[in-house]
Order: sequence, then structure tokens, then C-alpha cells
Amino acid sequence: MKPTKIAELLNEPACEHNAKSKSGCARPKPGATAGGCAFDGAQIALLPIADVAHIVHGPIACAGSSWDNRGTRSSGPALYKIGMTTDLTEQDIIMGRGEKRLFHAIGQAIDSHAPAAVFVYNTCVPALTGDDIESVCQAASQRWGTPVVAVDCAGFYGTKNLGNRIAGEAMFKHVIGTREPDPVPASAQRAGIEVHDVNLIGEYNIAGEFWHVLPLFDELGLRVIGSLSGDARFREVQTMHRAEVSMVVCAKALLNVARKLQTQYQVPYFEGSFYGATDTSRALRDFARGIGDASLTQRTETLIAREEARIHAALEPWRKRLRGKRVLLNTGGVKSWSIVSALQDLGMEVVATGTSKSTEEDKARIRELMGEKTRMISDGSPKALLGVFREYQADILIAGGRNMYVAIKARIPFLDINQEREFGYEGYTGMLELARQLALTLQSPVWASVRKPAPWRAVPDTAAGSAQ
Ligand code: SF4
Repeated sequence: MKPTKIAELLNEPACEHNAKSKSGCARPKPGATAGGCAFDGAQIALLPIADVAHIVHGPIACAGSSWDNRGTRSSGPALYKIGMTTDLTEQDIIMGRGEKRLFHAIGQAIDSHAPAAVFVYNTCVPALTGDDIESVCQAASQRWGTPVVAVDCAGFYGTKNLGNRIAGEAMFKHVIGTREPDPVPASAQRAGIEVHDVNLIGEYNIAGEFWHVLPLFDELGLRVIGSLSGDARFREVQTMHRAEVSMVVCAKALLNVARKLQTQYQVPYFEGSFYGATDTSRALRDFARGIGDASLTQRTETLIAREEARIHAALEPWRKRLRGKRVLLNTGGVKSWSIVSALQDLGMEVVATGTSKSTEEDKARIRELMGEKTRMISDGSPKALLGVFREYQADILIAGGRNMYVAIKARIPFLDINQEREFGYEGYTGMLELARQLALTLQSPVWASVRKPAPWRAVPDTAAGSAQ
């Protein structure tokens, strides 16, 4: 990829970081664990497209370190779960066989699995040896008559966040706008209800959590024609240019897709979240506002009133168990303000929050929710996190999976909020699951046990003396 293209992707005009400085996205600091590379970011963004064969062109280690690391779920095909790689070796590099191996790998994937499309992810080694993956993908597409999309995302191009944007750019260049949507099926049409097509961008259906929200969309007559990329199909992504409105669900990933859909296809977008009752209601209202259908607005208000009443009654027993508990939050990719709002809905107090991956707009919303004196932690190292935890006498750490062992070693309650988690927290129903998991973690008897001195430390000195 040309350096000018990388610079263009880094300087995404719709990203709040650019308003602050022209430096684009935050770069990893020397000595810090840098998170994933650009390839990892691109694959994470696109892997949930379930009926596509995802081929990693490079040494097997690249595929091994990124495959299936997001707990995303599919309601149908499971092809995305099959790890595919060209497994380049030293001999392939010496003999210049990279492009040939890639061509055969694409053929094998198509012959064995008949995928809707093939995505080829470039990695550092073939990018350095100069494999022309665009040409190989074009030739393979002509040979087999299946769309083959090159995602040029070698790890050394930059961070995981840049990889997200490269993935979005590849979708915009090669996939979105290549097909018209299917007609609305008769089963989805109900008397007097007009069906509106919408997009979700940056929604990954972690642990199947969007399925908590989808029935509400169906009830309101909102059809998700394209999702990037939770539970998505290739033919759906092709039609995203025909949506009436897009919702950007994850803060920064794929913002470039939303902006380009707006400028090139006049599809407006808004940023929102489905975490917590307040934000779920706000997102549904924003859809209705963006579409501008009076009947939809009225039905949305009726649905929100019903769902909020239902969930508040169901949450009451959990609120009694959680009220007043102090939380240290370090959410990583999930919008911090959104989780703050969900925890406040449960009567919990967020004493500090990590903001290393938050945009300036995210930080402003956190201040709005928590007040100007909010402690924002930009240093997410274990030492700093535990220091803040003790200083603020927090009861629980809510963070990404990489902080799990930090919490276990420090013997403090921990809840995983990131992509590897097993439980879905979106929507009104997801809120109930969040409350349940928080209560189970906080009130687990294990904390009292592990904080007691070990039994052998309680042996009196005299016993040790008599044994000598
Ligand atoms: S940095 Fe390069 S070699 Fe390492 S995982 Fe990423 S693409 Fe592969």
C-alpha cells in the first residue's frame, strides 16, 4: 500500500482525534504492549462476515495469532470459523512462490467450500517480498467466477485501528454498491407498517448480543440490510449503499465507511450504542429521527415505554445487590461512556475510567455523565490500574480480557467487557445479563477464600521448631 494512502486513512476527517491534532490515531508508545497489528485489525473487522473464505497470505503464525479471537456469532454459515492460510515458508520466499501459492489456496477454498466470496489478507512477509495480491485476486476471480477481494493490510503499516480502516476501505472499494437489495419478503410486511432499510457499522454480535436487539428492529419495521460485520453475509454488505441511515456502533473502527456512505450515497449516519437501557432507547429514537417517519417515531416511543418498564421491574432485585458498588472501568474498544451509562442505570458508581482508546467526543460524554472531576486514566498498565483501584477503593475492575490475570493475581473481582467475552450485554435484555454477571462476580465466595492467609502460614512457630 502506498504511504500516501496510509496517511489518508490515518487522517480520517470524521474522527475526533483529527480535530485535536493532525497526528491521526494514537500510536503505541515504546515499551507499551502495542495491541494488534494492522493485519489483526483488518481481520477482526471482517472475519464475522460468515459466508466468506478468509485466507491469510503469509506465514502460519499470522493466522494463528489472529484467528477466531473475537467471540462473534453467526446465525447461519460457519465458514468464517475455518482458519485458512497460505502458510508461506522460507523455501517459498527463496523460490518466489508466494503468488502461486496464493492462487492455488484461493482455488482450493472455492472448490472445497463454495464461499460467497474470498477475502485475502496481506501480511508483512509477502508485502516485503512484493507479492502483487491485487493481481492474483483479479486473476482468481476471473478463473473461478467468485468475487475475490484483496485486503492489503500488512502488519507493519500501523496499528490495529488503521487495520480496521483498511478493511473498511477494501469493503467500500470492492464490495459495497455492487448489488441491489432483495425486495422486502412478504413475511416481513405487516399492514400499515413501512419497512425501512438500515445499516449497522462496527457491530460485531459478540456472544450473539445483537440478537437481544434484533426482535425490536423487526417489530419496528427496521430491516438491517447490511452489517459490518456481525452475523453478516457477503450479499448483504454489497447492498449497504441503499440504507436510509447507518448507525456507527463502535467508536472509531470503520468510521471511514460511514463517512463515505454519507458523502457518496447520501446515507446519513449517527454514533450510538446498545449498552444500557438509556443508550438503547436513544439509539432507537435516533433511527426514527434519521428516517423521519412519523408513524415509526410513534411506534418507537410506545416500544421504548414498554421495554423500559419491563426491564426496570426485572432489574430491581439486581439493583438491590449492586447499588453503591464502586467500579473501575477500562473498556478498551467498547465505548466507555456507554458502559458508564449502563452501570449508572444499575445504581453503581464509576470511580474512574480508562480513556486510552476513547475519542475526544467520548471523553466529553464521560464528563457529562460523571462530572468534571472524573478520573480518566490514560495509562492502562497493570501497575497504574491497580494503583487507581486501591486509591479509589473500588469493588470491581471491568476491563478487557488482557487485564484478567492482573485482577486474578491481585485477588480482586473482575468482569470481562471486551470481544472475547462469553455473555452478550446489548439491548434491554442484555442489561439483565450484565447485572447478573456483575452480581455473581462481586458476590462470589471465592474472594473471601483467596484473601485469607494460606493454611501453612497459620502454622505456629513452635511446631516448626519441634520438627527440627
Ligand atoms: S506484525 Fe506482520 S508478521 Fe506479525 S502478525 Fe502482523 S502481519 Fe503477521
